[in-house]
Amino acid sequence: NLSDRLDRSFKLLKGEGKITEINVAETLKDVRRALLDADVNFKTAKQFTETVKEKALGQNVLTAVKPGQLMVKIVHDELAELMGGTAVDISLDGNPAIILMAGLQGSGKTTFSGKLANLLKTKKGKKPLLVADDIYRPAAIEQLRILGTQIDVPVYSEDGNKNPVEIALNAIKQAKANGNDVVIIDTAGRLAIDEAMMNEIAAIKTAVKPSEILFVVDSMTGQDAVNTAKEFNDRLNFDGVILTKLDGDTRGGAALSIRSIVNKPIKFVGMGEKMDALDIFHPERMADRILGMGDIVSLVERAQEQYDEEEARRLQKKIAKNQFDFNDFLSQIHQIKKMGNLKDLAAMIPGVGKAMKDIDIDDNAFKSIEAIIYSMSPKERVSPEILNGSRRQRIAKGSGTSIQEVNKLIKQFDETRKMMKMMTQMKGAGKLMSKMP
Ligand code: GDP
Ligand code: MG
Repeated sequence: NLSDRLDRSFKLLKGEGKITEINVAETLKDVRRALLDADVNFKTAKQFTETVKEKALGQNVLTAVKPGQLMVKIVHDELAELMGGTAVDISLDGNPAIILMAGLQGSGKTTFSGKLANLLKTKKGKKPLLVADDIYRPAAIEQLRILGTQIDVPVYSEDGNKNPVEIALNAIKQAKANGNDVVIIDTAGRLAIDEAMMNEIAAIKTAVKPSEILFVVDSMTGQDAVNTAKEFNDRLNFDGVILTKLDGDTRGGAALSIRSIVNKPIKFVGMGEKMDALDIFHPERMADRILGMGDIVSLVERAQEQYDEEEARRLQKKIAKNQFDFNDFLSQIHQIKKMGNLKDLAAMIPGVGKAMKDIDIDDNAFKSIEAIIYSMSPKERVSPEILNGSRRQRIAKGSGTSIQEVNKLIKQFDETRKMMKMMTQMKGAGKLMSKMP
């Protein structure tokens, strides 16, 4: 990754007191290449390396830090600054507040509309109304309805009405009547930018005067994302960008390019298809990701959020008394499953995302483990040390697994017990991290 490369190109520098033009040139070439690899657009990459060069030149290299590390820090800080300093909230002004989604077909507007409604409802105590304002595809209306049912948020739609402006205005009327304080308008997109689509969404904007227009863009589209963002911004002057599908392999260079070209903040990132796979955009973390360090902090934060505090306290007590048993092991598995798709999570771990791509890991991965534990008697679950050969044989039969699988699980369980101490320490570290800006 880029950090390694920077370190390598700065090996030669060791012992020199300052970063000079000559020794910086090679590194900047690496930086530029890495940025282009990460889908950053050419112009942005060029500007960026110029800025870094200015900042790097003449900096004193302290004996304690390697020049490569100093350079990584300069690049990292500059990336984070370029992407917007700190995370920005969305505006919920007005009663109801009106949020308008814009973007190409397939970018993730409908999915994000559902995620946002879910977030506002569960985290901010809002009463959102979702509006299916895609008049071209009945399937799109159905898709939003299904999401609405999933998260228990009402969805407004009108069969047969071909006027998206009218539908939006009617939806707002209904929201007022029903006490919905946020209206999220999901619009139609096309596969490519065309005048009719732009006219339509511009007309909706004029009619409903949204407090927030969000441009949704698929981060996997790379360079194209920048052009699309520019065209939508020229026409709508949107307030923020939603970068979806960041759970994929993309390194998120589009984030940097969009930010530098349209100069609008990225507000949320989509991390999966599930309704809770949504993260606030953190420029610092995106800088890490572009630099190839992975998004560890997001991972820790997300795991924490899903983790039942009470359950955690109960467990901690048991661990302290060395009473962690198979029932706890089972409940841990349920916690992990609650955290969402394992692949989504794994993709955030540096180095693992790519490796996991071809492996079919999903929630079923725990099935045989669960079966084995369910086949244990209550006494065996609480006192695993009584699990002798004949008991293991019986459990294997009962769970439809093999004696090897049972042995393996018991071994894993023993290791987990040992790991528990470490986990409690990690949780403390996670708390600390989530307090950082
Ligand atoms: P729209 O046409 O803009 O409304 O896009 P959709 O919301 O229908 O999304 C298109 C496809 O992308 C669907 O299959 C979604 O499930 C998927 N999708 C949307 N957001 C994400 C995301 O953050 N991660 C992943 N992996 N898939 C996503
Ligand atoms: Mg849609």
